[in-house]
Amino acid sequence: MENKMILQAFEWELSADATHWQNLTEKAQEFKEMGFSAIWLPPAYKGSKGIQDTGYGVYDYYDLGEFDQKETIPTKYGTKEEYLQAIKALQEKGLEVYADIVFNHLLGADETETVSAVQYKENDRTNAVSEEETIEAWTKFTFPGRKGKYNDYIWTWKNFSGVDYDERTKSHAIYNLGDKGWENDVDKEEGNFDYLMGCDLDMENTETVEQLDKWGKWYQELTNVDGYRLDAVKHIQFDYYVDWLLHRTKERGNAPFVVGEYWSNDQKALENYLDSSGNLISLFDVPLHYNFYEASHSDGTFDMRKIFSNTLVDSREDYAVTFVDNHDTQKGQSLESWIDGWFKVHAYTLILLRKQGIPVIFWGDVYGIPTEEVSPVGKDLELLMKLRKSMYFGNQVDYFTDSNCIGWVLTGDGKHLDSGMAIIMTNGASQEKEMTVSAFHKGKTFVDILGNNDQKVVLDENGKGTFPVNDGQVSIYVQEEWARRD
Ligand code: CA
Repeated sequence: MENKMILQAFEWELSADATHWQNLTEKAQEFKEMGFSAIWLPPAYKGSKGIQDTGYGVYDYYDLGEFDQKETIPTKYGTKEEYLQAIKALQEKGLEVYADIVFNHLLGADETETVSAVQYKENDRTNAVSEEETIEAWTKFTFPGRKGKYNDYIWTWKNFSGVDYDERTKSHAIYNLGDKGWENDVDKEEGNFDYLMGCDLDMENTETVEQLDKWGKWYQELTNVDGYRLDAVKHIQFDYYVDWLLHRTKERGNAPFVVGEYWSNDQKALENYLDSSGNLISLFDVPLHYNFYEASHSDGTFDMRKIFSNTLVDSREDYAVTFVDNHDTQKGQSLESWIDGWFKVHAYTLILLRKQGIPVIFWGDVYGIPTEEVSPVGKDLELLMKLRKSMYFGNQVDYFTDSNCIGWVLTGDGKHLDSGMAIIMTNGASQEKEMTVSAFHKGKTFVDILGNNDQKVVLDENGKGTFPVNDGQVSIYVQEEWARRD
């Protein structure tokens, strides 16, 4: 069991003061001590909103905070040199670094072009609602501040399949450019969800694909990152990334870690993407996030036995990257679905103390979100991470026997005699549950390391005990000696 734990090292509302890369450099040792194995960094390129841009509104892939463009040299997070320094500092501590790749759209073009286009219905992109018309589209990217350094390609409407604005008539609509149509193999929301925002990259255009590939080679050599988080993959031809990833793998001599953001609560849609992209890409377990969301907002009526129902971690555990919240689900963001505070420890226990899935821990839960007055989850989260890192041995046995109260044990193993734990949680009233840890532990005393319940549980001859939990809480029982040692 390789106890991977990824930190999502940003939230949406970080202050736009270009200090984040430096902060991460300074925190490298802290991340290591907390038990993380990998750090996911936000998109590093210049966005259309300049220093305010989180990086998801990509303007120039080759400007990592180096050129005076969009009224700033550094990005929201700092300069190119600081970015490279942060990656190096993290890797020197043995942490992997994952870069955020946003290949669906560009924003903030330098010039307009006159181009023929067809309007599509906003909520049914299979339905054209206008004749071909001439529009003035913001589609020409010349990057005047960079002056061709690293790459002198000029992006034009030919690289894009859609825009949402006509400068000539000042109208907003979904415009398909030329007579291109949309990519076929994309999510079926809105009929066809190829178009999301800005200038939609046309993955059927050879030059677009070539340019993104060239950039990938340049970027990987420059940054030496260990993996990628792929943004918005449901809006991109499902097999597009296959070649891009195979090329990166060949250049580096091994396969990078890759996780895609396919934002859908539909388990089947996620499975279909895994199949269509050739099992090269893991996916965030969005359905699990929504189960957490529902459980946290349903006032104890959610059936906890179904917490893993219809999730990716249930059907394709080796391809599931589990998480509780992220920069899009936090308050005020596009996919707002924040897990209510009382359930945070439940949710983190359900991703950190399970064998299935690779867990990601959100910056906002570790360090809080000051602008939203969201506090860190605190010491319970630190303890869970510590347990995953140092106590996670043996087999997992589930006791999902009650609609409010579920539990499971990790048996521990013969090599780590102080390991073994019993986990119990409820979304209702206090309860207790009989569970067997293992006969290695017979006669041992177990206590709740979270300190929620102060009862001592002595295991019988077979290693069985009766473990209590308080109203709406989680308790994690470990051997008393182990708990005391800390
Ligand atoms: Ca697209």
